[in-house]
Amino acid sequence: MRNSLPVALLVGSLTLGGGSAGAQEPTPGDVTEQLGVQQVQVAPAGAAPPQSGDEVPTQPVVEEYLTDRLREADEVWTAFFARLGLAEPKVSYLIVTPESGPYKSNCGSLPVIHHNTPNAYYCGWDEASAGFAGTIYLPVTTMQRMWAGDIFGRQSVRKGDFAAAILTAHEFGHHVVHELSEQYRQPLPTGKWWELISDCMAGVWATSAYYRGTMQPGNFEEAVAALEAIGDTAITAEPHGTSEERKNALLTGYNGIPNRYPPGAPAACTETYWKYA
Ligand SMILES: [Zn+2]
Repeated sequence: MRNSLPVALLVGSLTLGGGSAGAQEPTPGDVTEQLGVQQVQVAPAGAAPPQSGDEVPTQPVVEEYLTDRLREADEVWTAFFARLGLAEPKVSYLIVTPESGPYKSNCGSLPVIHHNTPNAYYCGWDEASAGFAGTIYLPVTTMQRMWAGDIFGRQSVRKGDFAAAILTAHEFGHHVVHELSEQYRQPLPTGKWWELISDCMAGVWATSAYYRGTMQPGNFEEAVAALEAIGDTAITAEPHGTSEERKNALLTGYNGIPNRYPPGAPAACTETYWKYA
C-alpha cells in the first residue's frame, strides 16, 4: 500500500461467485425477500485482533489497518453473495496519501479528494481497477485522526481504532447496496436512506468481526460514538440521518431485529432502510 497505484480487492485466491457457471440469474424483485433471514457468514474465531491499539499510529500503520479491514469486509461480503448465487461484489479502493492523491471521481457530487479531505467516499461509477466497478476512497490523514476521536472534524466522545474500522465498513456497505441494486434490479435507496442502510451494513460487518474475535472491549462503543459524532448537519448539506438514526441503523445491522432477524442479517437492513426520500 506504499505505492500510488489503485489496488484491487479480490485479486488472488478468492474466486467465489463471479458469475461462474451454476450461478442462477437473479430474478428482479424485492431485495429483502431475496436475502431471507440469512446472517453473514463468519470466519472461525481465533483470528488475531488488530494490533494498532488506541494510540494515534503512523501513516503506514493506518494504511495497513484500513487495508486489513477492507479485506475482512471483502471476505465476508463475497461469501454472503456467493451463498445467494450472486456475482462477486468487486470493488476497488484507494487509500489517499500525500504521495498518491489527489483523486477526482466520476461522481460529480464528490470533491477532489486529498489525503486530508474531511470525509470518506464511495462512487459506484469509478473503476479504479479494470473490471471493478465502484471505488472506495479513504483519505489517510483523515482516517488517522479518528484514533484521537476526530471524526471528519467532529469530536467523538471516544478515542480508538474502531471508528476508522466502522467508517471503512460504511463505505463498503455502500458498495454492497449498489451491487444488490444492480443484481436484483431494484433502484438504489435515496437521500438519508442511502446513508442509513450503509450504516446498517457496517453493523452487519461488525457482527462478523465480533464472531471472528477481532473486536476488542470498547470497540463497538467507539463505532457508535463515531456515528453519533457525525449525525446530520455535522458534515455536509447532504442528508445522512441524525445521530440517533445513525446509531440505530448500526445497531439494526449488529443486533438484528428481535424475533425476526438474527444479528448480522443484511435483510434487517434492507427491510428497514431500503427506502426512497
Ligand atoms: Zn456514506
